[in-house]
Amino acid sequence: MRRIVVLAGGIGGARFLRGLRPAAPDAEITVIGNTGDDIHLFGLKICPDLDTVMYTLGGGIHEEQGWGRADESFAVREELAAYGVEPTWFGLGDRDIATHIVRTQMLGAGYPLSAVTEALCARWQPGVKLLPMTDDRVETHVVIDAPDGGRRAVHFQEYWVRLRAAVPAHGIVPVGAETAAPAPGVLQALAEADVILFPPSNPVVSIGTILSVPGIREAVAGAAAPVVGLSPLIGGAPVRGMADKVLAAIGVAADTAAVARHYGPELLDGWLVAPQDADAVPEVEKAGIRCRAVPLLMSDRQAATAMAGQALELAEEVRAA
Ligand code: GDP
Ligand code: CA
Repeated sequence: MRRIVVLAGGIGGARFLRGLRPAAPDAEITVIGNTGDDIHLFGLKICPDLDTVMYTLGGGIHEEQGWGRADESFAVREELAAYGVEPTWFGLGDRDIATHIVRTQMLGAGYPLSAVTEALCARWQPGVKLLPMTDDRVETHVVIDAPDGGRRAVHFQEYWVRLRAAVPAHGIVPVGAETAAPAPGVLQALAEADVILFPPSNPVVSIGTILSVPGIREAVAGAAAPVVGLSPLIGGAPVRGMADKVLAAIGVAADTAAVARHYGPELLDGWLVAPQDADAVPEVEKAGIRCRAVPLLMSDRQAATAMAGQALELAEEVRAA
């Protein structure tokens, strides 16, 4: 398979991609990255998911944390705190800030985000073509309870980082998506792909947000290539993060078969579940999606590579069928 396209969020997408490269050493890998988590803070444009993919594949990631830079320091954060600058809940590291300065400067000079991302990747050499899902501004908002008994929407970062996903979420809104356009190269990559993969990224606020950009869902559904996804849930719970909470917010149960049915056979040809969820296989297959149970824990690079190999194998099976 020469051309592989992956729809990726942050850590789940990035770690999977790090396994995919050695699993398909000759392939041209295009990543369509989620930008719904992007936020403007301290005058800077921050793209957490694009940066997690770029740093992870480029060797600059803080490995245990899964986001931000290795060997990071926080002098700027301390100085901002000394001025009483809000918000204090989003901690940017000094090295990371340099990335955001370059990005913000280039955007200010008129370059689209896709060109800026390409420029940043010239340094990191991630070994994949990293495209933002759109050059337009899309922001994922989460609907939560308001103090007056009503409802209010907060930016996804506020829900996740400040509130730690500890308050009920009643809805997820990709603000701006309806008028956004796919970034240059996105639709072409999907049309020309030999295989399309959904890594174990968050199905709602990562892959769901990418699919909410008009034209992308249709391009995945209409692509000639087999589409194979890997479950981010194992035994009914996310491996890390809040996928269960944001699934509940859109009325989808936190189990792997429900996630597969949520994507549906229009999008998915194949779905990988963990061995713990082997009993979900018949249910997923009944929904018209080919399903296998294989180890899905990315405990190290080899494990991620084995998962990528299984995904490519299932894609081959779909193609042959
Ligand atoms: P985020 O933007 O940083 O939240 O990253 P993603 O959306 O790309 O990935 C988050 C999802 O990855 C979560 O729902 C996790 O359950 C899932 N995830 C993280 N590590 C693993 C793993 O080792 N195996 C599987 N199957 N899923 C994982
Ligand atoms: Ca994210």
